[in-house]
Amino acid sequence: MSDLTDLYQEIILDHNKRPRNFREMPGCACQAEGLNPLCGDEVKVFVQVEDGKLSDVAFQGQGCAISRASASMMTGKTKGKTEEEARDLAGRVRDMLVGPEADAPRELGDLAALSGVRKFPARIKCAMLPWHT
Ligand code: ZN
Repeated sequence: MSDLTDLYQEIILDHNKRPRNFREMPGCACQAEGLNPLCGDEVKVFVQVEDGKLSDVAFQGQGCAISRASASMMTGKTKGKTEEEARDLAGRVRDMLVGPEADAPRELGDLAALSGVRKFPARIKCAMLPWHT
């Protein structure tokens, strides 16, 4: 189990250090800004939509490792999905963090790295911030 914890930490550290899709998106279809005043996280999410799908997803902002890693993973996981699929995924991430089931569903892949946040209720907001946004 500790191997898994190490792996999860590595994934989060990696996304924090080298966030994917960390950029502005001028002229995008939709953008929103989220704040987590408890931690000081700020995130801006940019979405481009084509043929009913999120053709491009990016983010900017500053915050703790958890919020950055979560945003970075989100951009990768939601790209190419329909809006409905992206919402569904956000719901599953929320369930993983606050739901009764302690084991992360396999289909979440790397996102399972965020499951350790369950144990730290104060950080759940950090992990969910980009998804809410
Ligand atoms: Zn935070």
